[in-house]
Amino acid sequence: MRSVTPGTGDEHPAAPAGADGDGSADRPAPAGADATPATRRDEIAAGLARVEAEIAEACRAAGRHREELTLVAVSKTYPASDVRLLAGLGITDVGENRDQEASAKARDCADLGLRWHFIGQLQTNKARSVAGYADVVHSVDRPRLVTALSREALAAGRRITCLVQVALDGDPARGGARPEEVEALADAVAGAGGLALGGVMAVAPLGEDPGRAFARLREIARSVRDAHPEAVVVSAGMSGDLSQAIANGATHLRVGTALLGRRKPFVR
Ligand SMILES: *Cc1c(COP(=O)(O)O)cnc(C)c1O
Repeated sequence: MRSVTPGTGDEHPAAPAGADGDGSADRPAPAGADATPATRRDEIAAGLARVEAEIAEACRAAGRHREELTLVAVSKTYPASDVRLLAGLGITDVGENRDQEASAKARDCADLGLRWHFIGQLQTNKARSVAGYADVVHSVDRPRLVTALSREALAAGRRITCLVQVALDGDPARGGARPEEVEALADAVAGAGGLALGGVMAVAPLGEDPGRAFARLREIARSVRDAHPEAVVVSAGMSGDLSQAIANGATHLRVGTALLGRRKPFVR
C-alpha cells in the first residue's frame, strides 16, 4: 500500500550530496548525458531537464502553457544541500511531508526565499510548527485541522494558503476528505482567519488510471471554484503521472523521484 503517513520508513539516510552511489542504478540515465554524472548538481540538473521536457510535451498535447504550472520539488528524505542545488537551478517551490524534517530544512534554507509546501498528512499538534514555515498546506482534510491551522497562523501573524485534499477513491485512510466533504471544508477554510483557500489537492489512487482519477478531481475543483472563484489551484501529478495531471487541469505538480532520484527504502 502506498502511504504518505509520517514514520512509514520513507526515509533516506540523508547521504551527503553526490554520495548516494548505489542508488544511481535505479535512476534512468540522463538523456544525452554521461550515465555517471560528475556531480550531484549535474545529476539534479539532468533530472530537472527530463521533467521540464515531459511537462513541455504534456502542455503541447493539452494546449496549455508552461506558465500555468508550478513545479513543486519534493525534497523529502533528501538533504538541505539538495534544496540549495534545486534553488540554484531555478526551483522556487519545495514540498515536504514530515514536519520535523521540513522545519529543519526550511531553517537551513531560509536565505533562499523559497516557498514551502507541506504535502503530508498533518496532525493537529504539528500545526504550530508548520504554521511557522509553510506557505501552502496541501493536505487539509478535516475541520479540526482548519481550526488548528487558523489559530496558529493568526498567532504567528502569517497567512497560509490551504488546499483541500480529496481522497479520490473515497477512502480517507491515506489522507484526504471524501468528495462529499470537500465543499464544507472549502467553506471552512475560506472563512477562517489567517488562512486563504487556494484550491484542491489529490494523489492518484493506486490501481486506477490516473487520468480518470484526475478528471474527477477537475470536476471537484470546478465546483469549489464556483463557490470560491479565488480557489484556482489544482495540485495533482507526481513523477509517474504528471502528464495525466496536466491533461486534466493541474496547476501544481509535486515531483520528487524524477528530480532527486528514488528514495530508499522504496515506498511508493
Ligand atoms: C512524496 C510525494 C510526492 C512526490 O512523489 P514522487 O513520486 O517522488 O514524485 C508527491 N505528493 C505527495 C503527497 C508525496 O508524499
